[in-house]
Amino acid sequence: MPSLQTQLESACHSVQHEIGVGKVANYIPALAQVPPGKFGAAIISISGEKASFGDAQEAFSIQSISKLFALTAALNVHNNNIWDRVGREPSGNAFNSIVQLEKENGIPRNPLINAGALVVTDMLLGEQTATDTVTQLLSLVQRLADNESIAIDKTVAESERNTAHRNASLAHFMKSFGNLECTVSDVLDAYCQQCAIAMSCEQLARSALFLANNGTDPLTRQCIVDEERARRLNAMMMLCGHYDASGDFAHRVGLPGKSGVGGGIVAVVPDVGAVAVWSPCLNENGNSHAGTAALEALVRATKWNVF
Ligand code: GLN
Repeated sequence: MPSLQTQLESACHSVQHEIGVGKVANYIPALAQVPPGKFGAAIISISGEKASFGDAQEAFSIQSISKLFALTAALNVHNNNIWDRVGREPSGNAFNSIVQLEKENGIPRNPLINAGALVVTDMLLGEQTATDTVTQLLSLVQRLADNESIAIDKTVAESERNTAHRNASLAHFMKSFGNLECTVSDVLDAYCQQCAIAMSCEQLARSALFLANNGTDPLTRQCIVDEERARRLNAMMMLCGHYDASGDFAHRVGLPGKSGVGGGIVAVVPDVGAVAVWSPCLNENGNSHAGTAALEALVRATKWNVF
């Protein structure tokens, strides 16, 4: 059996021609500055074996991948009560779409699209300030990644906050249905900061490792969530982690995964480990083009597809 490093290298080498296909997200001005040729990948196994390729140590904006961490945090605080305010069905719509909200009384389809994540952020805020809420979420991420140096990229956070018209619309719309308790402004402040958490592929893969091991971090032995919740988080990622391209990701990769418009994707291989890839050029659904191709090649070689 080839080593993880050899398998990762050959998968990544096989997709180098895909780097630069697609477009870097530019609706958040700070993200438009990221060089389109970046490419990194990292694997960590539940026994602690690591593999890295390319820009695997360079921090990038995790964007919607933060929705996975926010959901984990909200479930830990509110348990199943969250499902009164957000669904758990694939949306079949773009990540920032507003169309379903009107017919569905301001209840977003799932927590991994923008509307659902705004509701999750509202739950995390409760009576707290945006700063305290984000500090707590960041410390969860640091604990999951076993790395206290992980931080928020303030330039990206400010850039998104200054241009968050679409998310403001979603939030106001949900507020009109009574599905937002805090002020729209506080929700947007917290949400834009959480999306601007910067992490490398190595840190991201490490942070999702608990989901490959029934909710317990296999290296620190800390229980992050119970087994049932870990299964549910993985199910949520499989069905909704790539928005309206979640079916395509399941078809091509077959792993629970979460993407972000920063070009990152984190994927969980149950009982094996976690993988993260980063390549900023996105396909039309807002998912990393070369990153998806790299995961597809890796899974084809390793047979990690859960099906
Ligand atoms: N911060 C981004 C937004 O709200 C996250 C979207 C994403 O990564 N798909 O638009």
